[in-house]
Amino acid sequence: HPHWYSSKTGIYSSVHSPLNLPTDPFVDIVSFIFSHPHDGVLALIDSSSGFSISYSKLLPLVKSMASGLHKMGVLQGDVVLLLLPNSIYYPVILLAVLYLGAVVTPLNPLSSVGEIRKQVNECGVNFAFTVPENVKKLELLLGIKPIISVPENDKDLRNECFSCFFNLIYGKFDLSQRVVIRQEDTAGILYSSGTTGLSKGVILTHRNLIAMVEHFVRFEASQYEYSCTKNVFLAALPMFHIYGLSLFAAGLLSLGSTVVVMRKFDIDEAVRVIDKYNVTHFPVVPPMVSALTAKAKGVNGSKLKSLRQVSCGAAPLSTGVINGFLHAFPNVDFIQGYGMTESTAVGTRGFNTEKFHNYSSIGLLAPNMEAKVVDWNGAFLPPGGSGELWLRGPSIMKGYLNNEEATMSTIDKDGWLHTGDIVHFDQDGYLHVSDRLKDIIKYKGFQIAPADLEAVLILHPEIVDAAVTAAKDEETGEIPVAFVVKKVGSILSPKHVIDYVAEQVAPYKKVRKVFFTDKIPRSQTGKILRKELRHRLTSKL
Ligand code: AMP
Repeated sequence: HPHWYSSKTGIYSSVHSPLNLPTDPFVDIVSFIFSHPHDGVLALIDSSSGFSISYSKLLPLVKSMASGLHKMGVLQGDVVLLLLPNSIYYPVILLAVLYLGAVVTPLNPLSSVGEIRKQVNECGVNFAFTVPENVKKLELLLGIKPIISVPENDKDLRNECFSCFFNLIYGKFDLSQRVVIRQEDTAGILYSSGTTGLSKGVILTHRNLIAMVEHFVRFEASQYEYSCTKNVFLAALPMFHIYGLSLFAAGLLSLGSTVVVMRKFDIDEAVRVIDKYNVTHFPVVPPMVSALTAKAKGVNGSKLKSLRQVSCGAAPLSTGVINGFLHAFPNVDFIQGYGMTESTAVGTRGFNTEKFHNYSSIGLLAPNMEAKVVDWNGAFLPPGGSGELWLRGPSIMKGYLNNEEATMSTIDKDGWLHTGDIVHFDQDGYLHVSDRLKDIIKYKGFQIAPADLEAVLILHPEIVDAAVTAAKDEETGEIPVAFVVKKVGSILSPKHVIDYVAEQVAPYKKVRKVFFTDKIPRSQTGKILRKELRHRLTSKL
C-alpha cells in the first residue's frame, strides 16, 4: 500500500506534510498582513459601485467597529446575527465581532420569519446586523435588542438609517484591553442538517477557523508560485455559507489578495466584473461552471482573459460539464474542492501540475486531515474501495448546538466525523465522490434539509403526512420534491402546496414539484424510508 494509507488502522493521511497551527488569536492571524508594508493594494471592492477598502484601512476599520460594538454593550460570548447579503463591510463586521470574542451566526437575508426565529432563539442572539428591508421583521423577533442597518457601500453611508453603522465604523478606537480568547472558544454558529433531521447549529471554534485559514487557504497559496497580493478573487458566493465565509470574509484577506464582492451572482455581470477588475481567481459552485462555459462561447476572444483559476465545490459536477469548461477555457486552471460546514470548509482540494491533473476528482486531503473509507459493514477500505468518508482533524466542528444526540451520532468517540458522503481514494491518493448517504438536497450548491420542509408541510391543515426528497435537475443539481397525503375531501392542488411552502422558507428552499399519494413509506419506528421515496420518484419522472 502507498505510504499515505495504513492497512493496519485503515487511516489515510494527507500526502502533504503536517503543519503546526499557530497559537495567535484568529483575527490577528487574518490581519497580520494588514500591518505589513503594502503598496496601496485593495482588500475589498464593491463590484457594482467600485467603492473599495484598502489593506491599510482594513484593520483600523475592524478595530473601530470592535470598539464601537463594545461601547454598545457587545461582550465576549454574546451572539451576533449577520442577516446580510454580500458587501465589502461583511468581513469588517465578522472580524470585529470575533475580535471581541463574541460569536457570529450568519443567515441568508432572504430567510423567512420562521427560519430567522428558529436561529435567533436557538443561538440566543443579542445583537443583529441586517439590511433595511429586514429591520421590521427582526424588531418583532428581537424586541429591544440592537439591530444595525448595513449599507451596501460608501455612498449609502450618508443616509440617516445607517448612522449607527457609520458611527461604529468611523468611531474612535479606544478599547484599552483585549479579552483573552481561547482557541476552543466558539467563534461561529452556522446551520446544517448534517446527515439527517432538521437543520442544526454547527459550532465552530476559533481553532476551527485558524485551521481553515492555515490548511485550506494559506496552504494552497503556498503550493503555487505566485504573488498572493496580485491575485484578484471574485466573491459571487454568499458569505453566509461556510464556503464564502471562509474564503471571502477571512481566508483570502489573510493572503493580501483583492476580493471583488458581488451582492448576488449574475453571469453577465460576472463577465463584466472579471474584465473590469482583471479577476484572476473565481471560486464557484457547479451551475456557475456551466454558465461560464456557455458565456465563453458568446464572447469574443479578448474577454475573460485575466482568469487563471476556477475552483468548484459544494456539490457534484458531471464529467460532461468539466470537459465543456476545459474546452472553453484551455488556459484556466480548473480544480474541485470538497468540504462541509461541519469541517469548516476544509476537506480536499485539487492540485494540477503541467504533468499531472485529475479534474474529475475532488483532490487531495488537506494537511493534518485524516480519513477513513468505511463500508456498510463497518470495514475500513483500502484505495479503490467505495464507502462512507470519515474525517478527522483540527477543523472539525465542536458539535451541534444543544443537540448531544446528533453530535454523538455524527462525531464518534475517536473524533471521526461521519460525512454521509460515499467516496473512494484512487491509487494517486486523489478522492472521488460518487454518492451521498445523507438526506440533504443540494440546490445550486446550497443545502436544504428535507426535514425542515416536511415540518412546514405537516402544519398545513389539509395535509395529513408529507415527505420530501431530491430530484436530479440539470440546471441546479437537485430540486426538492414533496410527496403529500391530503385530508379526505381536500381539493388542494400542487400549486397550493408549492405556494404555501414558498411563503415560509427562503426562496432557494422552496418545494418545486408535488406528488399526491395515499401513503408515505415509513419504517415501523415511523422513519421515512427515503430510499423507497427516491425509487418512487424515478418511476414518476
Ligand atoms: P455544506 O455543509 O452545505 O457545505 O454541504 C456539504 C456537503 O456538500 C458535503 O457533505 C457533500 O455532500 C457536498 N459537497 C461538497 N463539496 C462537494 C464536491 N466537490 N463534490 C460533491 N459533493 C460535494
